[in-house]
Amino acid sequence: MKKLLPTSTAGSLPKPSWLAEPEKLWSPWKLEGDALVEGKQDALRVALQEQQAAGIDIVSDGEQTRQHFVTTFIEHLDGVDFEKRQTVKIRDRYDASVPSVVGAVSRTKPVFVDDAKFLRQQTKQPIKWALPGPMTMIDTLYDGHYKSREKLAWEFATILNQEARELEAAGVDIIQFDEPAFNVFFDEVNDWGIAALERAIEGLKCETAVHICYGYGIKANTDWKKTLGSEWRQYEEVFPKLQQSSIDLVSLECQNSHVPMELIELIRGKKVMVGAIDVASQTIETPEQVADTLRKALQFVDADKLYPSTNCGMAPLARSIARGKMQALSAGAEIIRRELQA
Ligand SMILES: [Zn+2]
Repeated sequence: MKKLLPTSTAGSLPKPSWLAEPEKLWSPWKLEGDALVEGKQDALRVALQEQQAAGIDIVSDGEQTRQHFVTTFIEHLDGVDFEKRQTVKIRDRYDASVPSVVGAVSRTKPVFVDDAKFLRQQTKQPIKWALPGPMTMIDTLYDGHYKSREKLAWEFATILNQEARELEAAGVDIIQFDEPAFNVFFDEVNDWGIAALERAIEGLKCETAVHICYGYGIKANTDWKKTLGSEWRQYEEVFPKLQQSSIDLVSLECQNSHVPMELIELIRGKKVMVGAIDVASQTIETPEQVADTLRKALQFVDADKLYPSTNCGMAPLARSIARGKMQALSAGAEIIRRELQA
């Protein structure tokens, strides 16, 4: 990546209202059969065009072909029964009815590879593809088979590695693993979570990223954030070990969050995708606000390793707000580029 401060989004973008009900997670599809396949591809094209129009440098599919960043991947695997549901606590935060692991898990066919090929055909820009991380996957399931979080995470890491290798072959430049669970289960992250992530990226030649956030702007998350106090130091628990890992990029929440910026120093040497857009707020940041966050981050990350981004996915936002936020991100990054070149 030659351009200084290349911009990207953390992942999901809002879906068009003709494809799924807007501003809602797990929103059911409005189309079916061949019309749904076509509709998802059209939505992907729109999401790409909106990123391009906003001046985003590293583009994605906006997660237009999936209902949810974790469950859609798991739906494609063997060994998980979606009819047999159990209530578990997700990330120690809220109860949810989740599918059960009933046998050995495996990937019998590629999950997102055709979608990635389709996106690759549409653009010559660098593309980033998000997958759920192993620890976040196990946290969204009831495990009645392995009865070991570590063992199940390891199995998922092996499956994710198969998918990641095919995404790389399809021309994806950056493969990102979403691990919000890294912000919650610190002992497990250090004991085996980062090792499982390393298993997922084993043998890859493309760049790899891990996204660690405080979640979408949904009520369960904003309520949880209120309990975290004035300084959010969760990153401090896992950064030292992450710094030692072979992950290339770390994607973080920095805008309007109470994360002390100096914690980024703990991953010195990594490329840092600095979240300079708050996805839990309907207010569109000004370019100057974005620039201010990036300026603060530059105290702890070298300019050639700073990747301006969003705190998290924007799926639950209105499309016009997501567009405005992407434009602000580009404009804010441009302010800093000019300052650095002056
Ligand atoms: Zn996130």
